[in-house]
Amino acid sequence: MKKKTIKEILKDSEGLVGKEIDVKGWVRTRRGNKNVQFVALNDGSTINNLQIVFDLSKFSEEELKSITTGSSIHVKGELVASQGAGQSVEVLARELEIYGTAPADYPLQKKGHTMEFLREKAHLRPRTNTFGAVLRIRHALAYAIHKFFNDKGFFYFHTPLITASDCEGAGAQFQVTTLPLNELPKTEEGAIDYSKDFFGKMASLTVSGQLEGELGATALGQIYTFGPTFRAENSNTPRHLSEFWMIEPEMAFYEIEDNMDLAEEFIKYCVSYVLEHCYDDIKFLNDHFDHDLIERLKFVVDNDFVRLSYTDGVKILEDSGKKFEFPVSWGIDLASEHERYLVEEHFKKPVILTDYPKEIKAFYMKLNDDGKTVRAMDVLFPKIGEIIGGSQREENYEKLMARIDALGLEGMEWYLDTRKYGTVPHSGFGLGFERLVQFVTGMQNIRDVIPFPRYPKACEY
Ligand code: ATP
Ligand code: MN
Repeated sequence: MKKKTIKEILKDSEGLVGKEIDVKGWVRTRRGNKNVQFVALNDGSTINNLQIVFDLSKFSEEELKSITTGSSIHVKGELVASQGAGQSVEVLARELEIYGTAPADYPLQKKGHTMEFLREKAHLRPRTNTFGAVLRIRHALAYAIHKFFNDKGFFYFHTPLITASDCEGAGAQFQVTTLPLNELPKTEEGAIDYSKDFFGKMASLTVSGQLEGELGATALGQIYTFGPTFRAENSNTPRHLSEFWMIEPEMAFYEIEDNMDLAEEFIKYCVSYVLEHCYDDIKFLNDHFDHDLIERLKFVVDNDFVRLSYTDGVKILEDSGKKFEFPVSWGIDLASEHERYLVEEHFKKPVILTDYPKEIKAFYMKLNDDGKTVRAMDVLFPKIGEIIGGSQREENYEKLMARIDALGLEGMEWYLDTRKYGTVPHSGFGLGFERLVQFVTGMQNIRDVIPFPRYPKACEY
């Protein structure tokens, strides 16, 4: 008989009762008495454990004592309807093979470790119920994202991780170099001589694939990127990572309204997908950490997002009478507390805020007729704040050129060519993958929704 995952066994448990089962996994707990011992076995395929029953007339006490929490075993036996409460089926063990025991210093002995403790043990935390659930949901979301775009006829477009354009303006960049750092080659003027560097110029890790994404969209029509993104900002917040994954769709012939429609449909699709396909994991997180999680997810799927302008948003904040840490006035870059007030207290719904002052947004956003605001759209979510940032792009060559000159950006000729040759109205947005995973899992800290988080002073494993 072929080995089955615990997920497969539990899914088809009725059909498999009375049959021989071959299963492998890690021991979560073992309990029992001198006559019979029960092992909760987990193999990572599902949050649910399979109960294995060992009859001590067939197995030695010594052998069973060695299969402590964390040990890995292989069991063959018959699947039977369970006598006890808590599970519908169990395996009556006939054969036991021990791959590896786990001595008493195994760090994940007890349930209920703090997230901080588990972050110190990030190399082992995928073996906990909580991280197993988060990582399975993360996988399902990644799959849903590809499926959503593929089904809509978008092309997955791969943008580079190493880039020499330093004017993306989305955040501080990590430099990529092979120059000897303790004896840097200098030019006659005393500056670092990057012509001696690997690429012959200064290069960095990308903060966004958007600019290259626009080249894809203005050729293939509709593309999306989905890849790692790096930001060297020293933001020690529960919403920022130094290395995160971003999804950036970019669409030719899309106005800002089309862009908003797509963003809303996209997020709702992803949330529905995991509600349907990861219900056991979501239910676990709901029951153990965040009792409103399922309700919040359903609410997002079932309700229209509020759409309003930055200017109207600022008015609401000013009239709220609320004392914010950062005072509000037209022109400021909204802080998380402002975004969350609009979403959680005022509207109690996700909000798409549009038409921001041009000074606080990137150079490539389309200027409105008022000359003051740009066609930006940020999607703001409960608990998270900004989950998506996007805009209609400036397609007019002269206007874009004026903005680039005003900001003193250089080396943008390749980008400007999209406006020079057959320019079209187009739009796009960026979704931070980990912020979506955070929203869907209800995890408080973004460091707990990626297997090996990178943040200031943390680069383990
Ligand atoms: P924020 O204001 O929250 O720092 P941003 O405005 O710098 O974000 P954008 O440049 O608009 O972010 O990036 C698009 C999306 O990428 C954001 O909406 C967010 O979901 C995500 N994102 C941005 N920075 C980070 C980060 N450091 N870690 C994780 N996700 C991020
Ligand atoms: Mn943004």
